[in-house]
Amino acid sequence: MSEDASPRKELAAVKGTRDILPGEVEKWQALERLARETFESYGYRELRAPIFEVTELFEKGTGSTSDIVTKEMYTFTDKGGRSLTLRPEYTPSVVRAIVEHRLDLQPEPMRYYYMGPMFRYDKPQKGRYRQFHQVDIEVFGEKDAALDAEIIEMADALLRKLGVNGTETLVNSVGCRACRPAYSAALREAAGKRRSELCPDCQRKAETNPLRIFDCKVEACRAVAAAFPLIQDFLCAECKDHFAKLLGLLALYRLPYHVDPRLVRGLDYYTKTTFEIVSSHLGAQNAILGGGRYDDMMKDFGGPDICGIGFAMGIERALAAAEIALPARRALYLAALGEEAGKAGLELARFFRASGVECLVEFKDRGMKAHFGRANKLKAAWVLIVGEDELKKGRFGLKDMATGGQVDGTREELLEFLRKN
Ligand code: AMP
Repeated sequence: MSEDASPRKELAAVKGTRDILPGEVEKWQALERLARETFESYGYRELRAPIFEVTELFEKGTGSTSDIVTKEMYTFTDKGGRSLTLRPEYTPSVVRAIVEHRLDLQPEPMRYYYMGPMFRYDKPQKGRYRQFHQVDIEVFGEKDAALDAEIIEMADALLRKLGVNGTETLVNSVGCRACRPAYSAALREAAGKRRSELCPDCQRKAETNPLRIFDCKVEACRAVAAAFPLIQDFLCAECKDHFAKLLGLLALYRLPYHVDPRLVRGLDYYTKTTFEIVSSHLGAQNAILGGGRYDDMMKDFGGPDICGIGFAMGIERALAAAEIALPARRALYLAALGEEAGKAGLELARFFRASGVECLVEFKDRGMKAHFGRANKLKAAWVLIVGEDELKKGRFGLKDMATGGQVDGTREELLEFLRKN
């Protein structure tokens, strides 16, 4: 490429964002299709919410002491002076939509899914972007741990369809409003004793929300946190039973899991179950998907007292671990010879496209040899030959570019032939 043709650096895609180009996008489409099929087979329906919301929604929902809210949000003031934020996650938007549209009046449980971009001002690295994409599911109105197990099973089923292997499922319970305060107090005390060993961020967390110290990546903080008391020793009877039932059902599904008592997952709203599926193929950013229960968010948003649970899968990470076999593209190249054939070819292309055949039409007048060269370049599977003779007879030649074999027929016969081949 000459220097003149390279893009101006200052106009390049913003750091932490990426273009998804043809060649790669087919995998995205396949993942999206498999996710849709999987979720709909469990009774989920799509719910599309806006990409930006009032900032307060995330402060309240995601949590004012979470890293996402304190450090990572794309917040701006619009021309009307409102503080808006590009969504860093999807759950608060769904909860808002349910309260706003009184979707809770529908029969429970309510099951929703969504796919789209999320935005976090984080340090870009492999598997971590500023605009990334998630597949997200949320269910409301079902307290039973059977649902927790079912969504983990559903996540696993989707990963199998995507050809993701070498995964591990981590589960934990973070307790509820009844039992967490005692645990937080124990953490606060433990963190207070070793305050000087913590990073400044965690020293602050030790006072505001000691559970968040488990999110810290600093080695010294991790070492301190490794010696903290464990939540399992503080769970109330209800949370304990819930967790035991979940583990029993995972065993029934024959889904191997690992209990990780430090899995608190960066968000303030979780209650009871948290879980993550990690891949051994992904390096440092190894969590393909994660989620948990959030039984208080709806009530906290001024809505009815309805519990919720969900998970989000990172599409970039899932694709990095996936093995998706794409069907070969089988396009038809229309080779029109002469002006009349060129005009008739437009109608023929319309006929084939309307029947679902990918049909490539070049507008430049070409001879037969040039047409074949072009069809080869475009990797067409078939060439339809449209000349004056063919037009008169209403029968056309169809050449298989791989074998060189040719068949003749009316457009209807050829369509039938293409469908069979
Ligand atoms: P979270 O919303 O933090 O619970 O994350 C759910 C999933 O989204 C993770 O397991 C990742 O697969 C993905 N994810 C989260 N943050 C990023 C990011 N900055 N870049 C790419 N993927 C991400």
